[in-house]
Amino acid sequence: MAPAQASNSGVLVARSIKALRDAVDAWKANGQRVAFVPTMGALHRGHLSLVEYGNAAADRTVASIFVNPKQFAAHEDLSSYPRTEARDLELLATAGCDLAYVPEPAEMYPPGFQTSVSVAELSQGLCGTTRPHFFGGVATVVCKLLNQCRPDVAIFGEKDYQQLLVIRRMARDLDIDVEIAGAPIVREEDGLAMSSRNAYLAKDERAIAAKLNAVISTAAKRLAAGERVLSVLADGKAAIAAAGFSSIDYLEARSALDLTLLGPGPLDGKTPARVFVAVMIGRTRLIDNWPVG
Ligand code: AMP
Repeated sequence: MAPAQASNSGVLVARSIKALRDAVDAWKANGQRVAFVPTMGALHRGHLSLVEYGNAAADRTVASIFVNPKQFAAHEDLSSYPRTEARDLELLATAGCDLAYVPEPAEMYPPGFQTSVSVAELSQGLCGTTRPHFFGGVATVVCKLLNQCRPDVAIFGEKDYQQLLVIRRMARDLDIDVEIAGAPIVREEDGLAMSSRNAYLAKDERAIAAKLNAVISTAAKRLAAGERVLSVLADGKAAIAAAGFSSIDYLEARSALDLTLLGPGPLDGKTPARVFVAVMIGRTRLIDNWPVG
Protein backbone atom coordinates (compact mmCIF):
# COMPACT_ATOMS: atom_id res chain seq x y z
CA MET A 1 0.00 0.00 0.00
CA ALA A 2 1.26 3.48 -0.88
CA PRO A 3 2.15 5.74 2.05
CA ALA A 4 0.39 9.09 2.42
CA GLN A 5 1.34 11.22 -0.57
CA ALA A 6 1.33 14.94 -1.28
CA SER A 7 -1.46 15.99 -3.66
CA ASN A 8 -1.34 18.92 -6.11
CA SER A 9 -3.02 21.01 -3.44
CA GLY A 10 -0.15 20.32 -1.05
CA VAL A 11 -2.20 18.43 1.53
CA LEU A 12 -1.03 14.87 2.30
CA VAL A 13 -3.49 12.23 1.10
CA ALA A 14 -3.82 8.73 2.58
CA ARG A 15 -5.99 6.27 0.66
CA SER A 16 -5.47 3.21 2.88
CA ILE A 17 -5.91 2.48 6.59
CA LYS A 18 -2.20 1.67 6.79
CA ALA A 19 -1.10 4.97 5.24
CA LEU A 20 -3.43 6.83 7.62
CA ARG A 21 -2.18 4.94 10.68
CA ASP A 22 1.50 5.33 9.74
CA ALA A 23 1.10 9.12 9.52
CA VAL A 24 -0.95 9.42 12.72
CA ASP A 25 1.34 7.03 14.64
CA ALA A 26 4.41 9.09 13.64
CA TRP A 27 2.77 12.27 14.98
CA LYS A 28 1.72 10.56 18.20
CA ALA A 29 5.22 9.15 18.68
CA ASN A 30 6.36 12.79 18.71
CA GLY A 31 3.83 13.57 21.44
CA GLN A 32 1.47 15.41 19.08
CA ARG A 33 -2.30 15.55 19.66
CA VAL A 34 -4.47 14.60 16.69
CA ALA A 35 -7.90 15.96 15.73
CA PHE A 36 -10.19 14.24 13.24
CA VAL A 37 -13.01 15.64 11.07
CA PRO A 38 -15.10 13.04 9.19
CA THR A 39 -16.88 14.36 6.08
CA MET A 40 -18.54 13.15 2.90
CA GLY A 41 -16.73 15.80 0.83
CA ALA A 42 -18.29 18.54 -1.32
CA LEU A 43 -16.76 20.75 1.32
CA HIS A 44 -18.03 24.18 2.34
CA ARG A 45 -17.24 26.67 5.10
CA GLY A 46 -19.16 24.55 7.63
CA HIS A 47 -16.74 21.66 7.14
CA LEU A 48 -13.75 24.00 7.16
CA SER A 49 -14.87 25.47 10.50
CA LEU A 50 -14.53 21.95 11.93
CA VAL A 51 -10.97 21.75 10.57
CA GLU A 52 -10.23 25.13 12.18
CA TYR A 53 -11.68 23.81 15.45
CA GLY A 54 -9.36 20.81 15.09
CA ASN A 55 -6.35 23.02 14.44
CA ALA A 56 -7.07 24.92 17.66
CA ALA A 57 -7.69 21.75 19.70
CA ALA A 58 -4.74 19.66 18.50
CA ASP A 59 -1.30 19.74 16.85
CA ARG A 60 -2.44 17.89 13.72
CA THR A 61 -5.79 17.71 11.95
CA VAL A 62 -6.97 14.84 9.75
CA ALA A 63 -10.12 15.15 7.62
CA SER A 64 -11.73 12.18 5.91
CA ILE A 65 -13.70 12.29 2.68
CA PHE A 66 -15.88 9.23 2.25
CA VAL A 67 -19.39 9.06 0.79
CA ASN A 68 -20.64 6.25 2.98
CA PRO A 69 -22.94 3.91 1.03
CA LYS A 70 -24.29 2.39 4.26
CA GLN A 71 -26.10 5.57 5.27
CA PHE A 72 -28.07 5.92 2.02
CA ALA A 73 -31.28 3.97 1.33
CA ALA A 74 -31.81 2.58 -2.16
CA HIS A 75 -34.08 5.51 -3.13
CA GLU A 76 -31.69 8.18 -1.80
CA ASP A 77 -28.99 10.22 -3.55
CA LEU A 78 -25.83 8.06 -3.20
CA SER A 79 -25.01 8.07 -6.92
CA SER A 80 -25.77 11.77 -7.41
CA TYR A 81 -24.17 12.99 -4.15
CA PRO A 82 -21.68 15.72 -5.18
CA ARG A 83 -18.09 14.48 -5.46
CA THR A 84 -15.50 17.26 -5.80
CA GLU A 85 -12.25 15.73 -4.55
CA ALA A 86 -9.69 18.02 -6.23
CA ARG A 87 -11.46 21.14 -4.95
CA ASP A 88 -11.94 19.58 -1.52
CA LEU A 89 -8.20 18.88 -1.21
CA GLU A 90 -7.43 22.50 -2.10
CA LEU A 91 -9.87 23.77 0.51
CA LEU A 92 -8.41 21.43 3.13
CA ALA A 93 -4.88 22.65 2.32
CA THR A 94 -6.00 26.27 2.67
CA ALA A 95 -7.70 25.52 5.99
CA GLY A 96 -4.46 24.08 7.37
CA CYS A 97 -5.52 20.42 7.40
CA ASP A 98 -2.48 18.12 7.72
CA LEU A 99 -3.85 14.97 6.12
CA ALA A 100 -6.84 14.00 3.99
CA TYR A 101 -7.98 10.40 4.42
CA VAL A 102 -9.80 9.35 1.24
CA PRO A 103 -10.51 5.61 1.32
CA GLU A 104 -12.23 3.66 -1.47
CA PRO A 105 -15.46 1.84 -0.52
CA ALA A 106 -13.57 -1.49 -0.81
CA GLU A 107 -11.05 -0.34 1.81
CA MET A 108 -13.89 0.52 4.18
CA TYR A 109 -16.14 -2.45 3.40
CA PRO A 110 -14.04 -5.34 2.06
CA PRO A 111 -15.76 -8.52 0.88
CA GLY A 112 -17.25 -10.40 3.83
CA PHE A 113 -17.96 -7.24 5.86
CA GLN A 114 -21.00 -7.95 8.05
CA THR A 115 -20.88 -5.93 11.26
CA SER A 116 -23.05 -2.97 12.12
CA VAL A 117 -23.27 -0.59 15.05
CA SER A 118 -26.62 0.70 16.21
CA VAL A 119 -27.41 3.24 18.91
CA ALA A 120 -30.91 2.15 19.85
CA GLU A 121 -32.78 5.06 21.40
CA LEU A 122 -31.09 8.21 20.11
CA SER A 123 -31.44 6.91 16.54
CA GLN A 124 -35.25 6.97 16.82
CA GLY A 125 -37.43 9.97 16.03
CA LEU A 126 -36.42 13.07 14.07
CA CYS A 127 -34.35 11.89 11.05
CA GLY A 128 -34.53 8.29 12.29
CA THR A 129 -38.25 8.12 11.44
CA THR A 130 -38.00 8.83 7.71
CA ARG A 131 -34.44 7.48 7.37
CA PRO A 132 -34.52 4.30 9.51
CA HIS A 133 -31.25 2.95 8.02
CA PHE A 134 -29.38 6.25 8.41
CA PHE A 135 -27.94 6.33 11.93
CA GLY A 136 -26.90 2.66 11.78
CA GLY A 137 -24.85 3.50 8.70
CA VAL A 138 -23.40 6.60 10.32
CA ALA A 139 -22.55 4.88 13.63
CA THR A 140 -20.92 1.97 11.79
CA VAL A 141 -18.72 4.12 9.55
CA VAL A 142 -17.77 6.59 12.30
CA CYS A 143 -16.88 3.71 14.64
CA LYS A 144 -14.61 2.35 11.91
CA LEU A 145 -13.13 5.77 11.11
CA LEU A 146 -12.35 6.41 14.78
CA ASN A 147 -10.69 2.99 15.07
CA GLN A 148 -8.74 3.61 11.88
CA CYS A 149 -7.51 7.09 12.78
CA ARG A 150 -7.38 6.81 16.60
CA PRO A 151 -7.60 10.58 17.14
CA ASP A 152 -7.56 12.36 20.49
CA VAL A 153 -10.55 14.48 19.51
CA ALA A 154 -13.15 14.15 16.73
CA ILE A 155 -15.28 17.12 15.70
CA PHE A 156 -18.87 17.03 14.44
CA GLY A 157 -21.20 19.86 13.46
CA GLU A 158 -24.29 20.78 15.47
CA LYS A 159 -25.97 21.09 12.06
CA ASP A 160 -26.51 17.32 12.38
CA TYR A 161 -27.37 17.50 16.06
CA GLN A 162 -28.98 14.06 16.39
CA GLN A 163 -25.93 12.57 14.65
CA LEU A 164 -23.62 14.33 17.13
CA LEU A 165 -25.49 12.80 20.09
CA VAL A 166 -25.63 9.35 18.44
CA ILE A 167 -21.87 9.40 17.90
CA ARG A 168 -21.09 10.69 21.39
CA ARG A 169 -23.23 7.88 22.87
CA MET A 170 -21.65 5.28 20.58
CA ALA A 171 -18.10 6.31 21.55
CA ARG A 172 -19.03 6.21 25.24
CA ASP A 173 -20.86 2.88 25.01
CA LEU A 174 -18.08 1.17 23.04
CA ASP A 175 -15.26 2.68 25.16
CA ILE A 176 -13.64 4.41 22.19
CA ASP A 177 -11.01 6.60 23.80
CA VAL A 178 -11.78 9.88 22.02
CA GLU A 179 -13.34 13.22 22.90
CA ILE A 180 -16.38 13.96 20.71
CA ALA A 181 -16.63 17.73 20.23
CA GLY A 182 -19.60 19.62 18.76
CA ALA A 183 -19.09 22.78 16.68
CA PRO A 184 -21.67 25.50 15.90
CA ILE A 185 -23.68 25.65 12.67
CA VAL A 186 -22.12 27.79 9.93
CA ARG A 187 -24.71 29.67 7.85
CA GLU A 188 -24.88 31.52 4.55
CA GLU A 189 -25.34 35.29 4.76
CA ASP A 190 -29.12 34.91 4.56
CA GLY A 191 -29.09 32.38 7.40
CA LEU A 192 -29.46 29.14 5.43
CA ALA A 193 -27.40 26.44 7.17
CA MET A 194 -24.56 25.41 4.86
CA SER A 195 -24.97 21.92 3.43
CA SER A 196 -23.49 19.97 0.54
CA ARG A 197 -27.08 19.29 -0.54
CA ASN A 198 -27.78 23.03 -1.01
CA ALA A 199 -26.05 22.55 -4.38
CA TYR A 200 -29.17 20.66 -5.54
CA LEU A 201 -31.42 23.70 -5.08
CA ALA A 202 -32.70 25.57 -8.13
CA LYS A 203 -32.73 29.38 -7.81
CA ASP A 204 -36.39 29.60 -6.77
CA GLU A 205 -35.92 26.72 -4.29
CA ARG A 206 -32.84 28.42 -2.85
CA ALA A 207 -34.92 31.54 -2.13
CA ILE A 208 -37.51 29.44 -0.28
CA ALA A 209 -34.79 27.57 1.65
CA ALA A 210 -33.51 30.86 3.07
CA LYS A 211 -36.76 31.24 5.01
CA LEU A 212 -36.30 28.10 7.10
CA ASN A 213 -33.93 29.52 9.71
CA ALA A 214 -36.26 32.45 10.45
CA VAL A 215 -39.08 30.00 11.21
CA ILE A 216 -37.06 28.03 13.75
CA SER A 217 -35.31 31.02 15.31
CA THR A 218 -38.72 32.68 15.81
CA ALA A 219 -40.10 29.47 17.32
CA ALA A 220 -37.07 29.21 19.65
CA LYS A 221 -37.53 32.82 20.75
CA ARG A 222 -41.23 32.32 21.51
CA LEU A 223 -40.51 29.12 23.45
CA ALA A 224 -37.84 30.93 25.48
CA ALA A 225 -40.49 33.56 26.30
CA GLY A 226 -42.69 30.83 27.82
CA GLU A 227 -45.28 30.26 25.07
CA ARG A 228 -46.86 26.83 24.70
CA VAL A 229 -44.91 24.37 22.53
CA LEU A 230 -48.05 23.16 20.75
CA SER A 231 -49.12 26.58 19.50
CA VAL A 232 -45.58 27.73 18.64
CA LEU A 233 -44.98 24.62 16.53
CA ALA A 234 -48.41 24.88 14.87
CA ASP A 235 -47.56 28.45 13.82
CA GLY A 236 -44.12 27.30 12.65
CA LYS A 237 -45.64 24.56 10.48
CA ALA A 238 -48.10 27.05 8.98
CA ALA A 239 -45.20 29.43 8.22
CA ILE A 240 -43.23 26.62 6.54
CA ALA A 241 -46.21 25.70 4.37
CA ALA A 242 -46.82 29.36 3.49
CA ALA A 243 -43.15 29.85 2.55
CA GLY A 244 -43.53 27.32 -0.27
CA PHE A 245 -41.71 24.24 1.04
CA SER A 246 -43.01 21.04 -0.56
CA SER A 247 -43.54 19.18 2.73
CA ILE A 248 -42.58 19.13 6.41
CA ASP A 249 -40.90 16.04 7.73
CA TYR A 250 -40.86 17.29 11.34
CA LEU A 251 -40.83 20.47 13.42
CA GLU A 252 -40.29 19.60 17.07
CA ALA A 253 -38.90 20.90 20.36
CA ARG A 254 -36.65 18.43 22.11
CA SER A 255 -34.16 18.25 24.96
CA ALA A 256 -30.69 19.20 23.73
CA LEU A 257 -29.25 16.65 26.15
CA ASP A 258 -31.07 13.44 25.19
CA LEU A 259 -33.63 14.45 22.51
CA THR A 260 -36.65 13.81 24.76
CA LEU A 261 -39.74 15.30 23.09
CA LEU A 262 -40.93 18.48 24.87
CA GLY A 263 -44.39 20.04 25.09
CA PRO A 264 -47.31 20.46 24.61
CA GLY A 265 -47.18 23.17 27.31
CA PRO A 266 -44.47 25.75 27.92
CA LEU A 267 -40.86 24.60 28.43
CA ASP A 268 -39.68 24.31 32.03
CA GLY A 269 -36.88 26.82 31.41
CA LYS A 270 -34.34 24.43 32.98
CA THR A 271 -33.86 21.67 30.39
CA PRO A 272 -31.64 22.91 27.54
CA ALA A 273 -33.89 22.67 24.49
CA ARG A 274 -33.64 22.95 20.71
CA VAL A 275 -36.08 23.33 17.86
CA PHE A 276 -35.47 20.74 15.14
CA VAL A 277 -36.77 20.85 11.59
CA ALA A 278 -36.61 18.78 8.41
CA VAL A 279 -38.38 19.79 5.20
CA MET A 280 -38.45 18.86 1.55
CA ILE A 281 -38.09 21.37 -1.28
CA GLY A 282 -38.76 19.48 -4.45
CA ARG A 283 -36.54 16.42 -4.08
CA THR A 284 -34.05 18.04 -1.71
CA ARG A 285 -34.26 17.39 2.02
CA LEU A 286 -33.00 20.13 4.35
CA ILE A 287 -32.49 19.95 8.11
CA ASP A 288 -31.71 22.65 10.65
CA ASN A 289 -31.97 23.29 14.37
CA TRP A 290 -31.87 26.25 16.75
CA PRO A 291 -31.16 26.48 20.48
CA VAL A 292 -33.88 27.83 22.79
CA GLY A 293 -32.56 30.67 24.95
P1 AMP B 1 -21.26 15.82 5.85
O1 AMP B 1 -20.15 15.96 4.88
O2 AMP B 1 -22.51 16.50 5.44
O3 AMP B 1 -21.45 14.40 6.30
O4 AMP B 1 -20.80 16.60 7.16
C1 AMP B 1 -19.57 16.35 7.76
C2 AMP B 1 -19.50 17.11 9.06
O5 AMP B 1 -19.65 18.50 8.81
C3 AMP B 1 -20.61 16.72 10.05
O6 AMP B 1 -20.07 16.70 11.37
C4 AMP B 1 -21.60 17.85 9.88
O7 AMP B 1 -22.41 18.07 11.01
C5 AMP B 1 -20.66 19.02 9.65
N1 AMP B 1 -21.35 20.12 8.99
C6 AMP B 1 -22.08 20.08 7.84
N2 AMP B 1 -22.63 21.28 7.57
C7 AMP B 1 -22.26 22.10 8.58
C8 AMP B 1 -22.52 23.47 8.90
N3 AMP B 1 -23.27 24.24 8.12
N4 AMP B 1 -21.98 23.98 10.03
C9 AMP B 1 -21.22 23.22 10.84
N5 AMP B 1 -20.93 21.92 10.60
C10 AMP B 1 -21.45 21.37 9.49
